[in-house]
Amino acid sequence: SQIKEVEFVKSSGRAKDCPKDDRPEFAILGRSNVGKSSLINALVRKKEVALTSKKPGKTQLINHFLVNKSWYIVDLPGYGFAKAPDAARMDWSSFTKGYFLNRETLVGVLLLVDASVPPQKIDLDCANWLGRNNIPMTFVFTKCDKMKVAKGRRPDENIKSFQELIRENYQQHPPWIMTSSVTGLGRDELLLHMSQLRNY
Ligand code: GDP
Repeated sequence: SQIKEVEFVKSSGRAKDCPKDDRPEFAILGRSNVGKSSLINALVRKKEVALTSKKPGKTQLINHFLVNKSWYIVDLPGYGFAKAPDAARMDWSSFTKGYFLNRETLVGVLLLVDASVPPQKIDLDCANWLGRNNIPMTFVFTKCDKMKVAKGRRPDENIKSFQELIRENYQQHPPWIMTSSVTGLGRDELLLHMSQLRNY
């Protein structure tokens, strides 16, 4: 399940422009600042890779990275910019939703959730939207190493409240993994999880 090789393939402005082949893919999604770039870098152990998508103008695109020439990691635009004008939020919803609803090779969404803050409505809304549309997802809690946290709540307490809120809406709780890009927690578990999902 290890990553040996990663290659940036392309940035697409629309779902229709994404690579057209049968390789399975995982979309990585989360609030801006959730630790998405750090997690991608930790997964691939190659600093320059995820940074490609951080270049100005690329953050609002769907970025495909080919792993081991056999599957894709897809870096999607972050959501929930507190100061973004309504137009920018609409952008996210129209084209990212288009991607989710039309991408047949999508094996699963890794929904990143910051464990160092209490549950955020926007993350719950996103999870519930994916759930309603039957898009398979895994919660990837980020920053689980953080001990200096908002309102004095520890990551495990935040995760527990998040899961309780999710449970109200799901018969079965989606799988979840605790990670830290600082300590490497969850890295191998996440890679193994993705390889299991690819082989279904
Ligand atoms: P992105 O906007 O989602 O791509 O987030 P970044 O990867 O740029 O991370 C946002 C901030 O959170 C940066 O200051 C990171 O150093 C910090 N960060 C990211 N991952 C972790 C983590 O696992 N632990 C801790 N303590 N900080 C993290």
